[in-house]
Amino acid sequence: AVAALAFTGCSGARTDTASTDAAAAGFAADATIGVALPDKTSENWVLAGDLFTSGLTDAGFKPDVQYAPATNTVAEQQNQISAMVTNGAKVIVIGAKDGKQLGTQLQQAADAGVKIIAYDRLIENTPNVDFYVAFDNFKVGELQGQALLDGLEARSGHGAPWNIELFSGSPDDANAAVFFDGAMKVLQPKIDDGTLVVVSGQTEVAQTATQGWKAENAQSRMDSLMVANYASTPIDGVLSPNDTLARAIITSVKQAGTDITKFTVTGQDSEAESVKSIMAGEQYSTINKDTTLLVAQTIDMIISLQKGEEPEVNDTEQYDNGVKVVPAFLLPPVIVTRENAAEAYANSPKLLEIVNAAQ
Ligand code: BGC
Repeated sequence: AVAALAFTGCSGARTDTASTDAAAAGFAADATIGVALPDKTSENWVLAGDLFTSGLTDAGFKPDVQYAPATNTVAEQQNQISAMVTNGAKVIVIGAKDGKQLGTQLQQAADAGVKIIAYDRLIENTPNVDFYVAFDNFKVGELQGQALLDGLEARSGHGAPWNIELFSGSPDDANAAVFFDGAMKVLQPKIDDGTLVVVSGQTEVAQTATQGWKAENAQSRMDSLMVANYASTPIDGVLSPNDTLARAIITSVKQAGTDITKFTVTGQDSEAESVKSIMAGEQYSTINKDTTLLVAQTIDMIISLQKGEEPEVNDTEQYDNGVKVVPAFLLPPVIVTRENAAEAYANSPKLLEIVNAAQ
């Protein structure tokens, strides 16, 4: 079903008119705005909730921010969205727990005239998603693939071939396959020409998945990979789709006796612990997707809808959700290594402090 994501990988031209009639007549300036977020497994989701609460309040709206709880998450998120519709929300922003399982609730929202903005993760197989706001996910994957190659070259202490393993995110998150495809655009040619060797042979997205984006699942898969493939062969690097998983992978390969200074692992999200790890010379790279910017862009969209105006989008090609191409506003992700960390986090005081403390 992930194949429903017809992904072209190239940014569409900026257009100011979305191909939907999503901007209807507008609504009250103090309306309730629902925000349904998936979980708290990554720092970015925790921060997003706080920023939506304060940003929507500052803009004059009444925010209703909910997280799907740790258990029964899909059903609970469905219930939360239904309740937001019933309670009169005018727009609902959704970071989907499972982007394929919201069809019923979004039909209910559409029937009530509620606008839906998919936040960070695409919502699939429904006509009732009006806009998508995210960092360019395919680009994130490409940057991760390139960082893995750069890190292998810089850290391994030897030339090609390099032994690597591949990890992807949770199969219920539409982003996981897009990140992986972006990375494989860079890595597959290097696997084909023998520069990279995936010793386990596990190169399909389904084989590399990490259910729920959970650290313990990544760690146990890495433990198994080490036992089965690297008892007498050194491992040089791992493609990791985010920081939470990167740190789990580091824990695993360290326990298996790998010299971490020669090992390369990628990441994403600029989590504080990973920025520390990068500065300490362990994790090689992360991606900066500034949550402040993503939330601000989403709130701009809500303000346009409130005024009855058409929100600005800059992509009307890439995100086919299986039923429609969802008009999107995509922000550019930034790759971060030890070398450019100070520059990359110039506007993130907390992260800059970590960088400066380490230098
Ligand atoms: C987000 C990533 C995040 C992951 C796990 C993805 O949908 O785009 O930034 O690492 O979810 O929370």
